[in-house]
Amino acid sequence: MGDRVHGLGMYSLGIGDRFAHEAEAQLVAFVKAARLGVDVTPVWNKSNREHLVVGSEPVGVREAADAAACAVGWRGTYFVDADHITAATVARFLDPCDFFTLDVAGSIGRPAAAAAVEAFCARHSELTADVEVAGINAPVAMSRETTARVARHYLEAVKDAGQLYRLIVARRGAGTFLTEVSMDETAAPQTPSELLAILAALADEGIPVRTIAPRFSGRFNKGVDYVGDVAGFAAEFAADIAVVRHAVGTYGLPADLKLSVHSGSDKFSIFPHIREAIRQAGAGVHVKTSGTTWLEEVIGLAEAGGDGLALVQDVYAGAYERREELCAPYASVIDIDPACLPTPADVRGWSSERFVAAVRHDAQEPAYDRQVRQLMHVGYKVAAEMGDSYTELLAACRESIAQNVTDNIFERHLRPLFIGDQQT
Ligand SMILES: [Zn+2]
Repeated sequence: MGDRVHGLGMYSLGIGDRFAHEAEAQLVAFVKAARLGVDVTPVWNKSNREHLVVGSEPVGVREAADAAACAVGWRGTYFVDADHITAATVARFLDPCDFFTLDVAGSIGRPAAAAAVEAFCARHSELTADVEVAGINAPVAMSRETTARVARHYLEAVKDAGQLYRLIVARRGAGTFLTEVSMDETAAPQTPSELLAILAALADEGIPVRTIAPRFSGRFNKGVDYVGDVAGFAAEFAADIAVVRHAVGTYGLPADLKLSVHSGSDKFSIFPHIREAIRQAGAGVHVKTSGTTWLEEVIGLAEAGGDGLALVQDVYAGAYERREELCAPYASVIDIDPACLPTPADVRGWSSERFVAAVRHDAQEPAYDRQVRQLMHVGYKVAAEMGDSYTELLAACRESIAQNVTDNIFERHLRPLFIGDQQT
C-alpha cells in the first residue's frame, strides 16, 4: 500500500516531456504562477504510445519529475500520469505513476446487453426526463430513449474502466492514486446529456473519478489552435461543468471531480472561454498539453543554429518522407494537408529565424505554418531514432531550449488559462 494521495487542486496542467530533459524548465513556469499567487498542480503525462515511440519507460518520467521538484525546490504536489492506459498496457505504469488515465475509447460503442441497458434505465428513472441542473438555463435534455441509447453505447466502456480501476487498486491500494476516465479519442463528441448518464454509470461502477475527459465539439488537433465553433464550445463547456457538479451531488462522485481537456496545448481561441467558465462556476479544470514541449525543443534547437538547425531540418525531412506512418496513431487529432507542406529541400534552405517563425505558435506571424508545426509534432519518432545525437544536442542547446519551454507553458498556457493579464 502506498501513501494516501493528495488531490489535484482546482487548477492543474498536464505537461509532457518526451525526451525527459525539460522537467525543470517546465516546473519553473509553475513556480512563476505560484509567485503570482496562482497554484497550479503540474502533472507529467506520457502515454504508452509516446513511450513506445521514444523507447522510454514510465519510471523515467517519475525520476525526471522528482529530480525537477528537488532542483527547483517545488513544495507543492505534483503527479505522474499513466496517460491513456488500458488493461493491456498498464503494468509498467503501476509503480511509478500516481495518476491513471483510463482510456476506454476502444470499447465505446460496443453494444451493452439489453438486460444491462434495461437495468440502468430502471435504476436511473431520474434520467428518463429532462434534468434541471443548477448553473445552466435550459434543463439537460434527457429521455428514456436518450438514457437507453447512452447506456447501450457506453456501459461496456464503463465496465472496462471499472475492471482497470480495480486492477490498479489491487496492486497499489485504494486511495493511493488519482483516476481519470478519458473518452476523447473517439469520433463523436459527447453532449452534456451523454456526459450526465456516463457519470451516473461511472458512479454505479464504483470508480472514484477525479477528472473526466469527454470529447468536446470541434477539432482538438495536436499543437495547433482549436478548429470549430468557439461560442458553441463555450456553451458546451459551461454546461459540462454544471453537469459534473450535478453528478457529484446526485451520485456521490468525489467532490473535486473536474473536467479534463485533452490535446489542450495551444487552444488559444478557447482558453479565455475555459477561464471564464471556471471562474463563473468556481470550478476547477485539468488541461493536458503534452507534446508542445517537444516542439519547444525543436524551436530552441533551430534558434541555436548550426548543428541544432541542421538536426531539426533532418527531422523535418524524415517526418516528411514518413508522414503517413507518423500520423496514423494520431488520426483523430491531426489534420495535415500534404499539398501544403514545404518540401524538405525548401526547409533545408531556411535560416534559424525562418524555421522558428514557421514552427513557433504565433498566429500573428505571417510565416507561422500550422501544417509544418503539426508534422513536426508527430515527428518526434524521427528524433527518437537519432538516439544520443539528439539528446546530446538537447544538452548542448540547453539555454535556448529551456527559455522556450518555460515561456510556452507560462505565457501561452498558464497565463491565459489561470492567471489572466495581471502584471508579472
Ligand atoms: Zn487524450
